[in-house]
Amino acid sequence: MGAVEVRDGFVALYGAAPDGIWSAPGRVNLIGEHTDYNDGFVMPFALPHTAVAAVSRRTDGVLRLHSADISGDAVELRLDELRPESDKEWTAYVAGVVWALREAGHPVTGADIHLASTVPSGGGLSSSAALEVVVALALNDLYELGLERWQLARLCQRAENVYVGAPTGIMDQTASACCEDGHALFLDTRDLAQKQIPFDLAAEGMRLLVVDTRVKHAHNEGEYGKRRAGCEQGAAQLGVDALRDIPHDGLDEALARLDDEEVRRLVRHVVTENRRVERVVALLEAGDTRAIGPVLSEGHASLRDDFQVSCRELDLVVDTAVAAGALGARMTGGGFGGSAIVLVEAADVAAIGKAVEEAFAAAGLTAPRVFEAVPSPGARRLDPAV
Ligand code: ADP
Ligand code: MG
Repeated sequence: MGAVEVRDGFVALYGAAPDGIWSAPGRVNLIGEHTDYNDGFVMPFALPHTAVAAVSRRTDGVLRLHSADISGDAVELRLDELRPESDKEWTAYVAGVVWALREAGHPVTGADIHLASTVPSGGGLSSSAALEVVVALALNDLYELGLERWQLARLCQRAENVYVGAPTGIMDQTASACCEDGHALFLDTRDLAQKQIPFDLAAEGMRLLVVDTRVKHAHNEGEYGKRRAGCEQGAAQLGVDALRDIPHDGLDEALARLDDEEVRRLVRHVVTENRRVERVVALLEAGDTRAIGPVLSEGHASLRDDFQVSCRELDLVVDTAVAAGALGARMTGGGFGGSAIVLVEAADVAAIGKAVEEAFAAAGLTAPRVFEAVPSPGARRLDPAV
């Protein structure tokens, strides 16, 4: 659904034109998985899939929310009644942003919001961050809060962590807020230092496929918490603030100091994964783009064997794609389902996509959703052009 439909939907719902229209994208993480809560490196880029929101200010302390993608009437909330973890519906992602802004002292006095999103929900492509960031940017503009993009991302993370109650790192919101067209974002999650890295695969005759497995295994959240706790335990035993502080050339020595086999595996993944992000940045900056393929595949092996967050469907995508001639492939996002990415020569797109679809059919699995990911713009205001 495009901006015109969202504006028209707003008018039909609320009986007046919106003050403005904004969009914020979903994201794919090129490399740097499970590093963000270890103060490490990540490298997402924005998808062309976006959440689009039409928004108007209100001055009476009321928040009205509606999603074109969810059946039902607009939900009406009072700002002074917003409480963390009180809302288990989609509206928590949006109300949480308003709550976080107000908690931080920003004078938001209400809003009417109507939105629609083309980011697949629950597919590991950050539909939740797209929702949060589009609302944060709209309110930042309408209330002239003057917050910078990274600050909006922080507030959105707080909305998701505290208000929704989902323990996520800072990557998703920063990607949606800060990515740029034709670039991947090299982000240091410790100090939020950013660098835009040119990533124009089409110009070099390559494509990046996203394969959404359409599965999300139920144990996902508990397993995430266990990995997080294991990483914290490793950092504590090694006497560092976060695993980010273990240099790659100090890995063997660090591993020798850990007696728990599981913690050792987690530490090895995080330290080698940070190194892989740095390698990908260096390769892209040197114009050696094809060489990132094997680094992506190495990353998958590390997530599968050391961090143990892959699953049968994700492994099937990666193994099938690489066997069919892909330059590299890996699961992306938290794991236990969601999506994988596959780097391919442009000429091989159809054949590799077909090989993956056939492998899923042969294994008796639901057909995956396969699409090309083009590095796209981050969050932005769309009107008055609309
Ligand atoms: P992901 O961010 O990987 O897509 P999450 O579980 O973090 O998955 O977020 C998905 C949730 O975001 C959905 O369950 C829903 O509450 C909310 N959401 C996503 N897209 C929409 C939408 N278009 N309209 C309303 N809510 C949405
Ligand atoms: Mg999410």
